[in-house]
Amino acid sequence: MPRNRPSEVRAAAALRPRPRGAASAIDGLSSSANSEIARLERTRNYLRTGDVGNAVRLWQNHVRRPTRELQHYYEFGDVHDFCCGSQVEARDLLDIVISAMSPRSARELRTIIGRLDAQLEF
Ligand SMILES: [Zn+2]
Repeated sequence: MPRNRPSEVRAAAALRPRPRGAASAIDGLSSSANSEIARLERTRNYLRTGDVGNAVRLWQNHVRRPTRELQHYYEFGDVHDFCCGSQVEARDLLDIVISAMSPRSARELRTIIGRLDAQLEF
């Protein structure tokens, strides 16, 4: 049985509640990486169906925010952390998921996240 670090539990909990919906495939990932993610969402007790795709979307929204908004976010947080999920906790969750994936699938997801991270460097 996988043991969860407190940060894992916190990162996953921050993504809830969220709108209910079927798991959606993550754009740019191979079908084998997507099915690996679906399997993790079924088998890891810190994940639920759709959590990983949701985390990618949250992080995507985060890196696209204008600098001024990002500064406000880092200083004051965001009310949507509670209703829609925390964008920075979502990024933490993605690292946890990447470390649980096979090397090949992890590399695919890391590439996608790395491209998003690069948009943040200002
Ligand atoms: Zn919201």
